[in-house]
Amino acid sequence: MAEMVPPNHPLEGPGLWVERVGMRRFPAGRPALFLDRDGTVNVDTGYPSDPAAVVLREEVLPAVRAANRAGLPVVVVTNQSGIARGLFGWDEFAAVNARVLALLAARDCFVDMVLACAYHEAGKGALGISDHPMRKPNPGMILRAAEMLGTDLARSIMAGDSASDLEAGRRAGLSHLFLVGEAGTGQGARIIEVVEAVA
Ligand SMILES: [Mg+2]
Repeated sequence: MAEMVPPNHPLEGPGLWVERVGMRRFPAGRPALFLDRDGTVNVDTGYPSDPAAVVLREEVLPAVRAANRAGLPVVVVTNQSGIARGLFGWDEFAAVNARVLALLAARDCFVDMVLACAYHEAGKGALGISDHPMRKPNPGMILRAAEMLGTDLARSIMAGDSASDLEAGRRAGLSHLFLVGEAGTGQGARIIEVVEAVA
């Protein structure tokens, strides 16, 4: 009989992915650059689940490099209700996440943590939770990352393509909130200025 090998995913409970990426270490009290993923780092194709289809967006890449240079941790915080909705699973999330990180690294952009929340009211079973504290616009993922990294939230930055990204940042106590993507074009240079100002 084939042995069941449990998937080696960095999950805290059934619906929260908390991944420390790479070996960069940060002293406590640094601000961080928080980024939404779909529609911010990569083109949002609607519940992306195919690693071969991942395409980076250009807008925030220079800001990621600036944060890397300035010694700010870069943290991706992404709602993944597609998992609660049964459209794909953590294996597909892992594959897309790995592809995003690899494409970023090929552009000299390095991410230090990835957090993903699968909880959503449309889900079934353990994932079917309404207004979960980890799901944006709630600040849980930002607070969890800050706890692990010793982040100074008041000086930290959030960039995302939806109002719920900015609201999560506001609820976490961040002062610098940037709407990017279609609705907020041309923020890249301004984010770099703030990264360098808070560093
Ligand atoms: Mg988004």
